[in-house]
Amino acid sequence: MDNTNLAAFQGVWVFCEQREGKLTPCVLELLNEGRKLADQLGTKLSGLLLGDGVQGLKDEIAGRGADQVIIVEDPALAVYTTDAYTYVINAMVEKYQPEILLIGATNIGRDLGPRCAARLHTGLCADCTHLDVDMDQYREFLRTNSVLDGERIDNVKTVTVMGEKKDVSMELKMTRPAFGGNLMASIICPRFRPVMATVRPGVLKKGVHDEAKAAAAEVICEKVEIPADVMRVEVKEVVKAAKQLVDLIGAEYIVSIGRGIASDIEKGKALAEELAGVLGGVVGGSRVAVDSGWLSADHQVGQTGKTVRPKVYVALGISGAIQHKIGMSDSECIIAVNKDPRAPIFEVADYGITGDLFQVTPLLIEAIKAQKAAQ
Ligand code: FAD
Repeated sequence: MDNTNLAAFQGVWVFCEQREGKLTPCVLELLNEGRKLADQLGTKLSGLLLGDGVQGLKDEIAGRGADQVIIVEDPALAVYTTDAYTYVINAMVEKYQPEILLIGATNIGRDLGPRCAARLHTGLCADCTHLDVDMDQYREFLRTNSVLDGERIDNVKTVTVMGEKKDVSMELKMTRPAFGGNLMASIICPRFRPVMATVRPGVLKKGVHDEAKAAAAEVICEKVEIPADVMRVEVKEVVKAAKQLVDLIGAEYIVSIGRGIASDIEKGKALAEELAGVLGGVVGGSRVAVDSGWLSADHQVGQTGKTVRPKVYVALGISGAIQHKIGMSDSECIIAVNKDPRAPIFEVADYGITGDLFQVTPLLIEAIKAQKAAQ
């Protein structure tokens, strides 16, 4: 495969990660985004599904926007292993030559994406939070998310690649936080194909299921012989973590705690749990709350934690560092409680309460309880 022959590569692919026969939620987000990109490029959207006994997922993949579902089944693909999945994905890429390959930045995707990209000798932009092909939409994104002036944004069209001007109008522009989240970098892959990106779960929106689309999709079943010497790892047993991890991404109400609870950690945690309980939500936290051992790592919201967009996000004693805001600023309604009226969290808050969280939170709990009792 000559992956510098850009014109030979066509189509947008989404790797449809499944675990125990269920698609991970991130796949639905990628299919919706992939549909948008495929329409902008005037090409097909394909879902690539690997596993064993996973045919039943094809309707869900097609109903979420794929024109084509490519399924590779093999007992060796029943449980994820880096070697088998990399081998099969790359075999499919070499056969069909897609222009773009999107993978969820889940634990599996973060392992798989770079391995596939290195073997294919192409670029991968990891942990993206935004994707564009269309220039007008990209300029609109820059207008609302960058400090570039209007004229500079209007003139974004070419970049210099190895000394030559390159038109980026039809390139996939992959945006991700860089330099500790202090700036957003847009990255292109102008010399090799496929263009690969892993995308953070929770940042893109899911589409709706369309029955007609599900029925109309083309389904291709492929067989790939996986040579025995490819498989360097044998999975003997899959042991699930005994404790239930908190589902921040699926939660509609999140009450997050930060260093502000430091003067009485147990009381701060108990108040957050009680408030989350009356709202019907879950507790999250800043990196400080996790690094200090007050909450386990699955509770962390932000750049190196989860990206969430609940109906209501309550930030108790969180300053609103850029790395935290990246993970929660798309929430529908943000309520912040902070002693410091200049705390940056108030810049993104819909309702800001300047005060001590130990005094304010019980009042919030009582008010919600009273409201519920009155209904
Ligand atoms: P602080 O910044 O110390 O803020 C505590 C706040 O509590 C203050 O505003 C204070 O006024 C207020 N307060 C104190 N007492 C009270 C009280 N009694 N009542 C009300 N308010 C009170 N951070 C994340 O959260 N998520 C990430 O994913 C993440 N990733 C990172 C990645 C990198 C590469 C880097 C460099 C940093 C990252 N960080 C992340 C850390 C981030 O920069 C901040 O250090 C962190 O978010 C601060 O947490 P905090 O708001 O809890 O603490």
